[in-house]
Amino acid sequence: MMPRSPLPMSHRAGFRALISLLAALSTGLVATAAPAAPQAPVPDSSAIEAQARALLAKLSPEQKIELLGGIDSMFTRAMPAIGLPSLKMSDASVGVRVWGPSTSYAGGVSLAATWDPDYARRLGESLGKDSRARGVHILLGPGVNIARSPVAGRNFEYLSEDPFLNAALVVPLIEGVQSQGVIATVKHYALNNQEYNRHNVSSDVDERTMREIYLPAFEAAVTKAHVDAVMDSYNLINGIHATESPFLNLTVLKGEWGFQGILMSDWDATYDGVAAANNGLDLEMPGPHYMNARSLLPALEAGRVTMTAIDDKVLRLLRTALRYGFLDRPQFDAAASTYSVADRAVALEGALDSLTLLKNDGHLLPLDSAGVKSIAVIGPNAYPAVTGGGGSSWTEAFDSVSTLTGIANLVGPGVQVLYARGLPEMYDVFHDTHWDGAITAATYPSKDFTGTPQITTLTRLDHPEPQGPWIYEPTPRSIRYTAHYRAAKAGNYLILASASPSDGDTLKLSVDAKPLSTPPHAEGQIAPFWMLELSAGQVIEVVADYVPRFPGVHSGLGIAFEPDLVSDDAKKFAAAADVVVVAAGFSKETEGEGQDRSFGLPWGEDALIEAVASANPKTIVTLSGGVGTDTRRWRDKVAALLDVYYPGQEGGAAVADVLFGRHNPEGKLPVSFDFSWDTSASHAYYYPVERGDTVLPKIQPDGSTVAYTIPHVRYGDGLLVGYRYWTTSGQHPLYPFGFGLSYTSFRFSNLQVPEKAAAGATIPVSFDVTNTGAVAGAEVAQVYVSDPSAKRSRPERELKGFEKVRLAPGETKHLRLELDARSFSYWDDRAHRWTVDAGRFIVRVGDSSESTPLQADLTLHR
Ligand code: BGC
Repeated sequence: MMPRSPLPMSHRAGFRALISLLAALSTGLVATAAPAAPQAPVPDSSAIEAQARALLAKLSPEQKIELLGGIDSMFTRAMPAIGLPSLKMSDASVGVRVWGPSTSYAGGVSLAATWDPDYARRLGESLGKDSRARGVHILLGPGVNIARSPVAGRNFEYLSEDPFLNAALVVPLIEGVQSQGVIATVKHYALNNQEYNRHNVSSDVDERTMREIYLPAFEAAVTKAHVDAVMDSYNLINGIHATESPFLNLTVLKGEWGFQGILMSDWDATYDGVAAANNGLDLEMPGPHYMNARSLLPALEAGRVTMTAIDDKVLRLLRTALRYGFLDRPQFDAAASTYSVADRAVALEGALDSLTLLKNDGHLLPLDSAGVKSIAVIGPNAYPAVTGGGGSSWTEAFDSVSTLTGIANLVGPGVQVLYARGLPEMYDVFHDTHWDGAITAATYPSKDFTGTPQITTLTRLDHPEPQGPWIYEPTPRSIRYTAHYRAAKAGNYLILASASPSDGDTLKLSVDAKPLSTPPHAEGQIAPFWMLELSAGQVIEVVADYVPRFPGVHSGLGIAFEPDLVSDDAKKFAAAADVVVVAAGFSKETEGEGQDRSFGLPWGEDALIEAVASANPKTIVTLSGGVGTDTRRWRDKVAALLDVYYPGQEGGAAVADVLFGRHNPEGKLPVSFDFSWDTSASHAYYYPVERGDTVLPKIQPDGSTVAYTIPHVRYGDGLLVGYRYWTTSGQHPLYPFGFGLSYTSFRFSNLQVPEKAAAGATIPVSFDVTNTGAVAGAEVAQVYVSDPSAKRSRPERELKGFEKVRLAPGETKHLRLELDARSFSYWDDRAHRWTVDAGRFIVRVGDSSESTPLQADLTLHR
C-alpha cells in the first residue's frame, strides 16, 4: 500500500480566493472599457406592459406573424419599425458554444455530481458573462430532462435521475445566467428521455409520474427561478407533439405555473402551425416553417386562430425584450472577453467538485508523489481531452487539459510519464483488415436492394465520413457488401462497422446469413461492434447492407482479433510503471445528441483495461460518460475507479489533483450506476411497445400531408426511476445514487426531527456531520423521506433535502434543513393536486440512497 500524501488543507480556500482574484483581475485589466453592470432584467410591471402594448399596436398582422419564427438558425427576427433588435442565441449546457471557441465547463451531469447549488450559480454567472462577450441574448439551456435510462444519448447534458436534485441545481443556475442580462431557456419540455427516433417517439406516461418525476425541475425553473424561455421537446407526449400539447403548454406551464416568458420549439420540432399556435408555442425555431403567414393568415380569417392568441405570443417577446433592456442597450458587453481566466477557474472548480471516486482498493489513492517514479497514462480518452459529449452542446475550448497533460504537468520532469493510446483508431481497424479475397459491392438502383445491381470489387471498406454540405442523395441507392474473413487464431474477434452518424440507421450486418442485431436505438451509427468467437482457420461471410442518405459512400467495416487490439507499448508501459491510469469511456464520438448509446464501453476498451490490469495491479480507471456503463469484465481487476463524467476543459488538471491528493474527491453519483443494462429499472420499458405504433397524418410546410409512424414508449416504470426502483424493490445497483468515496471519513449523528407536526407545516431537520479522518474533505448530507402509511403506493424513499458541507479533520458542523409541504406530498391523480396523507413518515439522513445511518419517525396530523 502506498503511503497517503497529505491533502493541502488550504487548497479549497486558496482556490476560492483565486476565483475572486481572477475575477477582479480580469475586469481590472480591461483598462479601456468600464466594467458593465450585469444588467439583470427588471420585473414585469404596468409600465412594461403599457410599453409592450404600445409597440404591439404599431404592428400589422403580417408583422406580428413574422415575429413568431426565427431566422438564420440562431436568431429571432428584428422589427426595426418598433426598434426591436434580432435576438442572438447560443447553446448552452457546458459552454456558450455557437460563436467560436469558448470556456468549456463541467456542466450537465458533472454539475449534478457536484451537488453544489453555489457552483451552479457561479456556472450560470459565467455562462451569462460568456454570452454577453458574444452578444448572445438567449442561452439555449439548461437541459433538465431526467436520466431515466443509462443509454439515453443526452444524459450527460442533463442533470440527474432525481427531480429534487435537478430542481435544486437548476434554480441557481438559471438565476446566475439571467443575473447577467441573458435569457436562460429550460429544455426540453418535456419527457425527452431518449434520443432514438426523437422526432417521432411518443413518451406515454400517466399524470402522477409526470408531476412527481418529469416536471418538477421545469416547475422550479419557472416558479422559483423565473426562467424567461422554455424549449418544447421533439417527442410526442401521450400521442401529441410537445409543441402542440395543450396540457403541457397551456394548462401546466402557462396556466398553473404562470409562465410569462417565451415558449420556443426545439429546432424543427414544430409539425403544424395552427395546432402549435393554438397550443401555446410562441416561437418556432429555427425558422417559420409552419407558424407563418401562409398557414396563420387564412386560419385567422377562418377563425381557427384568434388574433388574441397571436398578440399574446408577440407580447411575450416584447415584454421580455423590454424587461432585459434589449431595445435600449447593446447585448455585447465590451468589458467581457470571450477568453476569460476567471472562467477557467470556474471550469476547474466544477471539474474538481464533480469527480466521483467509486472504488479505491487498499487506499491506492491518493498517490504519493514522492513514491511514484513512473506513471503510465493509457487509453483513447487520455489524449486529447474529452471535455464533453457530442451534439449541440459540444463546446470547442480555447485550450483544454487532457488527463495525460494534466498528470504530466502535476508530476513534473522528475517523474517518468509513459503514454500510449493503447487501441487503434477506428479507421486503422478498417484499413488493416485483411479480407479473404475481394469484397464485392453490389449497388442497386433502389433503396431496398431491388433491381439489377452494378458490381464492383474492393480490397477494403474504409470510406471517410462526409464533411457536408448535407444534401440528400438525389438518386435512390442501396449497396450490399459481401466479404469473407479467415480467422488466423482461435478466440474473440471484434467486428466493427460504421456509417456516418448523419446517414441514419442504415447499415445492417449479417454473418453467415445470420443478422447481427443492430445497436439499441441508435438514430445514427456510432461505430456499432459485435464480438464473435471463431476457431482457428474458420472462414465467415459478412454481408453489410448499406443505404446511403447522402451522395458518396461513408461506411467502414473491419475485423480484428481482440487480443491484438491492445498495443504492445501499452502493455509494456503498464508492466514497467509504478502505477497506471487508464482513461476510458465515452466521448463526443460515442455519446451524443441524436443517438442513444451502448451500455457497454466503446469497442476495445474492456480488452484494454483487462490487459493493463493484468500487467499492473495498481491500475486506476477513469471513466468518462453520462453515467451507467458496463464494468463487469474488469471492475474486480482494477484497484481504483474514478467517474469523471464530462469534466470540461480543465478536466485533466482536476483528475491529476484528485489522483495525487491535492484535492479530496467530493463528487457524488447523480444517477444510480447499474450492473448491466437489463437490470436497469427502465430496461423493460425503454423499447417501444411492440405492434403499438400509431400513424399520425401530418401537414408538410407545402400543405401536403404525410403519414408519420409513431412508436410509443410506455413509461411502465412509472415513479420507480433510478434509486426509487432499487430501494423499493429491495435490490441493489452496483453503486447507489448519491454515493462517492472520499480520502477522509464522515460520521452523521444527533438527528432531530419533531415527533409530531401538522400536515402542511415546514419541518426542521437538524443533525451533525463530523469529519472523522485525517484530511479536509466535503460530504453531501442527503435527507430522504419515506411515507409508509400513504394511501397510494409511493417509492420507498425520496430525496427531499441535501447540503454539501466542507470540514477540516475532526471538525463537526451542525446542519439544519427544512422540509416543506411538498417534501411529504404525492400527486393525487384523482383529485389532480398535491396531497399529504396524515400519518407516519420516516426521515433518513446519510451519504447515499442506500446508506442512511440516521433515521427518525415523524407523524403528520390534520
Ligand atoms: C437541440 C437543442 C438545441 C438546438 C439548437 C437541437 O438539435 O435538441 O437542444 O438547443 O438544436 O442548437
